[in-house]
Amino acid sequence: MMHGALEDITKAVGDTPIVRLNRVTEGLPPGVEIYVKCEYLNPGGSHKDRLAWNLLRRAEEAGLKPGGTIVEATSGNTGASLALLAAIRGYKCIFVMPDKMSQEKVSHLRAFGAKVVMCPTAVDADDPRSYYKVSRRIADETPNSFYANQYHNPANPEAHYLSTGPEIWKQTKGDFDVFVAGLGTGGTVSGTGKFLKEKKSDITVVGVDPVGSLYYDFVKTGRVTKPFSYKVEGIGEDFFPSTMNLKILDDIVRVDDKECFLMTRDMTRLEGLFVGGSGGAAVAGAIKWAKTNASKLAKAKKGPIKILVFLCDAGGKYVSKIFNDDWMRENGFLDEEPGIGTVADIL
Ligand code: PMP
Repeated sequence: MMHGALEDITKAVGDTPIVRLNRVTEGLPPGVEIYVKCEYLNPGGSHKDRLAWNLLRRAEEAGLKPGGTIVEATSGNTGASLALLAAIRGYKCIFVMPDKMSQEKVSHLRAFGAKVVMCPTAVDADDPRSYYKVSRRIADETPNSFYANQYHNPANPEAHYLSTGPEIWKQTKGDFDVFVAGLGTGGTVSGTGKFLKEKKSDITVVGVDPVGSLYYDFVKTGRVTKPFSYKVEGIGEDFFPSTMNLKILDDIVRVDDKECFLMTRDMTRLEGLFVGGSGGAAVAGAIKWAKTNASKLAKAKKGPIKILVFLCDAGGKYVSKIFNDDWMRENGFLDEEPGIGTVADIL
């Protein structure tokens, strides 16, 4: 083995940097600092590398052998992380995705040799055509397969309890007050939140939910409202996954697509952080939350409030959408004039 080399790319998962935001935070009350955990720098492109590692570890403990097929319902990132691990360990992959997902995500999975099946986004989760139901059926009918089942597999929050939480604790020594994360399966917030609260019981955990998802109304009012579709990918749900522990949340904020996408672009242009839409959502949510709550907290603490925001995936998968001015304008997310296009526009 060469000195300093890693055995394989999976050994590069984790130890992602925590970085201070300096420009998008302008206008926040004094004494509020926002930091981001750059999970998009993981080798598989997101925090789901931690999940894939734990899902497969648990499946292998239960008897799964290389050569088998991993089946999963995924909005893209879990698939990307499983596909990477599968390539190294010798598994086949079949992924089932809702059809709103970007073409880059589909191509990304196919690049690793995975089969991708598309399903309609605008059907109920229990409709037989939904991506949840189709993935379950494929798993049931494929011999020697393993249904990763990230929405109901306890190995999902466990991944973050064993990996993300301890890593954040080690990096920061607990020197922060608020943890903010987007809510998808809930694995991140439930596992990381549990670990952090066990270490420091007064950490405030805030979830960020897109308009159209179920979580916000349920947490605020106890009512289950009718979900509707939205454009931001990876966060929000139209059902309650058992991997989500909503009790871990001290608060929840809601963001709309436009807020998510404009912040995603600002994160890139003003901070050099090329993140995906859920990263913009999480930061927009953190800023919204800080504007109404952080001064109170800072007074009670008698010192600055440090907020740590979890950034899941990278902007590269969204260049045809969030970073495409035409797409942004067609969807009503961008009011400004088209960007500079020709020499005549510059000279
Ligand atoms: N952001 C992105 C881009 C995602 O793919 C996901 C996973 N669906 C999340 C955020 C939410 O993470 P979790 O499932 O752990 O709640």
